[in-house]
Amino acid sequence: MKIETRAVHAGRHIDPATGAVTMPIHLSTTFERSPSGEYPLGFSYSRENNPNRQALEVCLADLEGGTQALAFSSGLAVAAALVQGLEPGDHILAPDDVYWGLRKVIGEVFGKFPIETTYVDMTDLDAVSAGIRPSTRLIWVETPSNPLMKITDLAAVAGLARAASPQVLTVCDGTFATPVLQRPLDCGFDMVAHSTTKYIGGHSDVIGGALITRHENYLFERARKSQRYGGSVPSPFDCWLTLRGLDTFPYRVRAQSQNAMQVARWLQAHPAVEQVHYPGLEEHPGHAIAARQMTAFGGMLSFQVRGAREKAMAVAAGCRLFIRATSLGGAHSLIEHRASVEGPASRTPQNLLRLSIGLEHPDDLVEDLDQALTV
Ligand SMILES: *Cc1c(COP(=O)(O)O)cnc(C)c1O
Repeated sequence: MKIETRAVHAGRHIDPATGAVTMPIHLSTTFERSPSGEYPLGFSYSRENNPNRQALEVCLADLEGGTQALAFSSGLAVAAALVQGLEPGDHILAPDDVYWGLRKVIGEVFGKFPIETTYVDMTDLDAVSAGIRPSTRLIWVETPSNPLMKITDLAAVAGLARAASPQVLTVCDGTFATPVLQRPLDCGFDMVAHSTTKYIGGHSDVIGGALITRHENYLFERARKSQRYGGSVPSPFDCWLTLRGLDTFPYRVRAQSQNAMQVARWLQAHPAVEQVHYPGLEEHPGHAIAARQMTAFGGMLSFQVRGAREKAMAVAAGCRLFIRATSLGGAHSLIEHRASVEGPASRTPQNLLRLSIGLEHPDDLVEDLDQALTV
């Protein structure tokens, strides 16, 4: 069946006790044993497993084309679980423009652990190849990347990892390009990580994360231990909300992609705009690869205004419909001056603004940007 159908049905069933069409929220922390001491329905205690979490995990594994999925309490809990699964002396290869939170996990949470990380330009396959060491166990990729929307060739990186050693596992952070747009496991990646807070939940009202695997492997099993015994589990209500978001997920992402394409083209023609970063534009350096590995180009884009930081800040301040807020993937369009968020160490251009395109009508989004750019 097609993704729209699986997004509605995978993992769900009619409640046998009541006939309810949407799944009840199972708040019970504990489940009854049979007289002989077993758990015949497979649930014992909600940290270990819960019906709502199981439904979400089944649906996510299905959508990504994986064999198993784990739902976490946040996207960063997934990253932490993977790093926790490594051994002393292991090496991580990550993108130089990786989501800033991953640098915090590696540098600040696990900084005192003897794990080495190098950051390379993942769009440069020679740099990726040169970066792989005998001790490399994890290659982390994000495509499109934040905020310049750089595109990494997933099949090529998976091939380099396989050629290097079967011990190198590849993980793609698919937060910006969810399975409607891109399926890293089909490109040979071992696992996909998501912040479900963004497009999958899709309504800016629930924090969550997920890890999906194509095959059994030790890092996935250790991530499962970290989820269950480390306790980074989402609540039943969080799982229920995320699963509800999934009902409309393919349609939302396609509408956001169409809106973003229209906004990107309009911005590109605007005299106050210096450059637009959107992989759907032919001028984008990653366009050819994106066109090959994605079905549409997503709802995220960034642009640089003509002028300095002050002009970019004035444009953000002048927006009436775009909301000045961080995060992405929801129904509301958001605008953000990334360099301010990333702080003094940021390499993001000071005249850059990032947009998360929502579900409003694109004409209204363009009109808002037009009035903000002419202030
Ligand atoms: C938001 C985000 C994360 C972290 O997810 P949380 O749910 O906020 O913990 C990880 N990767 C990317 C690309 C993100 O945008």
